[in-house]
Amino acid sequence: HPLDIVAFCEEVIDDMQVVIKPGQHVVYRHLSGRSAIVIDGQMVKNILINLLVNASKYSAEGKEIELTTTVQDDQLLITVKDEGIGIPDADKDKLFINFFRARNVIHVQGTGLGLYIVKRYVDLLGGTVTFTSQLDSGTIFTVQLPLPLPSE
Ligand code: ATP
Ligand code: MG
Repeated sequence: HPLDIVAFCEEVIDDMQVVIKPGQHVVYRHLSGRSAIVIDGQMVKNILINLLVNASKYSAEGKEIELTTTVQDDQLLITVKDEGIGIPDADKDKLFINFFRARNVIHVQGTGLGLYIVKRYVDLLGGTVTFTSQLDSGTIFTVQLPLPLPSE
């Protein structure tokens, strides 16, 4: 069954309102492409929630979180951007390892499993997950997932 990625993301953001910090809000934009796609919604939801909760958790109150989706012919691109604490360069290569937490988050609760799960799901879907981050400035996660062509 095709899934409407725009409606789907809006629903996930609605559900997120109870977990984000005061004054934070998630701005969502579907940048381009069709919205009806064939993909495992449960897995995409897990990926989105883990990335959005991180964006909230590692940002201060009042900061903006940005979610974008783009559908190209045979792929879905998702970006989650925050204006948070960022990731120290020395920890960047270990981020997807289970139970790993960066040195600048010791005062924030967490187990270090969210990104490990994200990576597992992205791998299962045949996609990629990458990030760029600047300490004390913010982080952008990008997820690329393959899609069947609409005609298939
Ligand atoms: P949980 O298992 O509850 O998700 P966690 O958030 O610590 O715990 P991950 O989601 O796996 O674990 O993230 C691993 C580490 O990556 C975090 O502890 C944090 O150091 C870093 N990290 C992840 N997302 C961000 C982000 N948006 N900004 C800054 N650091 C981040
Ligand atoms: Mg997490």
